[in-house]
Amino acid sequence: MAHEKTILVVEDSKTQAIILQDILKKQGYEVLLSHDGAEAMEILLHRTPDLIISDIVMPNMDGFELCRQIRSTARLRQLPVALLTSLSDPGDVLKALISGADFFLTKPYDEHRLIQRVRTILESFGMRRSRGSSDEAEVFLAGKAHRINASKQQIVDLLLSTYENATIKNLELENLNRELTFLKYQLEQDIQRRKLTEEKLQESERRLQLVLDSIQTGVLIIEADTCRIADANPYAIHLMGASREEIIGSPCDRYVCSTSKDACPARNAERYPVESEQYLMAADGARVPILKKVSPITLRQKNYFLETFIDITEQVRAKEEIYKAKIAAENASRAKSEFLANTSHELRTPMNGIIGMASLLLDSELSPEQRDYVETIQNSAESLLTIINDILDFSKIEAGKMDLEIIDFDLRITIEEVVDLLSVKAIEKGILFRASVHHEVPSALKGDPGRLRQVLINLAGNAIKFTETGHVFIEVTAERETDCSVDLRFEVIDTGIGIPEDKRNLLFQSFSQVDASTTRKYGGTGLGLAISKRIVEMMGGTIGVESTFGEGSTFWFTVSLAKQSEEEMARTIQPADLTDKRILIVDDNSLNRVVLREQLVAWKCRVWEASGGEEALTIMHRQADNGEPFHAVILDMLMPGMDGKTLGRRIKTDPRLTQTVLIMLTSAGKRGDATLLQDIGFAAYLTKPVKQQQLRECLSAVLGIPQQAVYKPAAPILTRHRLTEEKKRSIKMLLVEDNPVNQKVVLKMLKKYGYSADTAANGAEAIRMLESTRYHIVLLDVVMPDMDGYQVTSIIRDPNSSVLQHDIVLIAMTAHAMKGDREKCLESGMDDYLSKPIRPDDLLGTIEKWVLKTIKAESV
Ligand code: ADP
Repeated sequence: MAHEKTILVVEDSKTQAIILQDILKKQGYEVLLSHDGAEAMEILLHRTPDLIISDIVMPNMDGFELCRQIRSTARLRQLPVALLTSLSDPGDVLKALISGADFFLTKPYDEHRLIQRVRTILESFGMRRSRGSSDEAEVFLAGKAHRINASKQQIVDLLLSTYENATIKNLELENLNRELTFLKYQLEQDIQRRKLTEEKLQESERRLQLVLDSIQTGVLIIEADTCRIADANPYAIHLMGASREEIIGSPCDRYVCSTSKDACPARNAERYPVESEQYLMAADGARVPILKKVSPITLRQKNYFLETFIDITEQVRAKEEIYKAKIAAENASRAKSEFLANTSHELRTPMNGIIGMASLLLDSELSPEQRDYVETIQNSAESLLTIINDILDFSKIEAGKMDLEIIDFDLRITIEEVVDLLSVKAIEKGILFRASVHHEVPSALKGDPGRLRQVLINLAGNAIKFTETGHVFIEVTAERETDCSVDLRFEVIDTGIGIPEDKRNLLFQSFSQVDASTTRKYGGTGLGLAISKRIVEMMGGTIGVESTFGEGSTFWFTVSLAKQSEEEMARTIQPADLTDKRILIVDDNSLNRVVLREQLVAWKCRVWEASGGEEALTIMHRQADNGEPFHAVILDMLMPGMDGKTLGRRIKTDPRLTQTVLIMLTSAGKRGDATLLQDIGFAAYLTKPVKQQQLRECLSAVLGIPQQAVYKPAAPILTRHRLTEEKKRSIKMLLVEDNPVNQKVVLKMLKKYGYSADTAANGAEAIRMLESTRYHIVLLDVVMPDMDGYQVTSIIRDPNSSVLQHDIVLIAMTAHAMKGDREKCLESGMDDYLSKPIRPDDLLGTIEKWVLKTIKAESV
């Protein structure tokens, strides 16, 4: 058993001693410990271990000396001694042999090898050694001779153990060497890799630098906390115009920011990049406009702002140029529209004189030849005026000055005005001209009635112009209706010459006419349809034409218009209620019946139609039998078979029908008709085309009148002209007009209709007259020297001025037919507006409108 063996360990280092002791004890050896040679010798006095392991270098007595003393002690001479060596000195081998040591054990210990060696020594030792059979030998080491007295066995053991130790060391070294070579290889690889990365880094840095150096964008890096410039690229430096040294470290607001550090927009921003246009303050005081962007960045855990900017001097200059050009264009455009307004005025003023005088001349006694001349003058003047209007409108469109006004208007009245205006021409040509607004179409709309009328007049005027026989019919229907708007479709249908297909798409272009030869025959500029198209498009609609060459054309357009609200409608006077009145229309012409029916149905009347006298009587009897006799019959005068007068007489003499109210509609009124019809028993007589307003007033008047009253001899028959007859003479008017020709024209027109007026040649005179005399109406020219119409109006309306009536009716007369003139007049306090050249019908209509209002107001 191992533990029979005892080993003495001599080691001055306590740690080493304990490590060794532990290794040996684990293997079951008994270990004696001593810390130097002397102590070991003491132990050996009374103990004889199987092996002594001793350190060499120790204080007081080293390992060799201990070995010598052991060998010189008879009892201990045979004990194996192993010395612990680090094999650093070859002299140790010699010293060991001289001192009589047997083995070397190398330090530091490898536990496994140490145990193996200890076992080998212990097992082999007993059999081989017999001290005393030693020979003396002489050896040389480092040139010196040494005498040793050791046995061959001892020498062999020692050398073997030395050699073994050396081999082990060598192996370890080799391993180490291999490891080192591997490490070296790895290191070299690492270095290679690093070198490559570094090269790449340098390359990208070089590139970045190149970009920063050559880019035409200023780049600054600014410390976020101090707002000082940390770096700047050459372009930034170039723009700032200072040296790099001056720029680096200076606060950024010195060069590129107009605000101080505390108000720094980049620091206080909610979103990045912060973009702004600024002025760069260069070192020489120059201000360079720049567009800059600022974003926050972090470099080595420090916050910076990256600021980039470009020079926008060119852009700013271009912008200024554009602005200047815009102002210039605006001025030019203003000049153009002023020129238009002036031209309009200048052209219309003399036209007023020509047309007005010609129409007055026509009313006087003239020889047929003279009449022909004057009519030619008037027709030429009329067509000249149309051309002037077209050209002015067209120029307005070209100048972008054509604007729409939005006012409340009554669609049916607008249509009637068109019919009114063009009827004369249609009658002259002997063609039937009618308009019908479908009863579902609302009347109270918002829009530009003037422009709508213009389009219709153009289309219907063309239709009449290009139609020799048959009819021209305007039809209005609603395509779509919502609570607040309605899409209307207007159709102007004629039975005229038609338009060849290949010419149709040219029509709506300016200055285009189907056939140059028609120009000579029919006149015209070829602008009307182009203007109409533009107006329709401005109203959100489209325009088009369908036509069969030689048979007729249908020009149509759509517009979208707002409806007046209930409140707005309530503000206008509600006419009498005609709901459920049973009315019979008798007319041989179906178009006429359609027009009337649509009007009456729109007022919620119940309508029957008859195309002749016999049919009418049949229907009337049937209704009377059913207990539903007609409230009124509207009959045409001229009908084949039985005419209106005869039918009227038949009705009035039929006891079952005699209660029916009769209204005569005639296209040609003759003197004496009124008396004749009154004698027959007609309650009213109206000329065609009848205005819906007249028809409605007439119907409510005659249906409201008690039956017997109709037979009172004193009850006058209701006619268009009688309505205001008695009042005319009592109306006092003042005409303020500086142009003597125009003054004369208006006075003559008034006289023709039974009115008269005082005159004032300028504003001051007018005011003087208004201070002393009471008038009902003032007709006021707008453009006058010294004091213009607006100034006159403001004095009249001023409650502190000394005119007698501040609320007198003021009607403007102006040659300015530009958009906005009407508003300008109304805004300045005038009540109405007439555009020159003043047409007799317009003058009369406007005056009568105000006369009626004045009468109503006075009778209240
Ligand atoms: P103009 O002032 O010449 O009438 P427009 O633009 O109103 O100008 O019309 C252009 C041309 O279109 C007319 O000259 C005519 O050739 C043709 N045209 C317009 N309306 C009709 C129509 N109802 N029937 C036949 N041709 C028409």
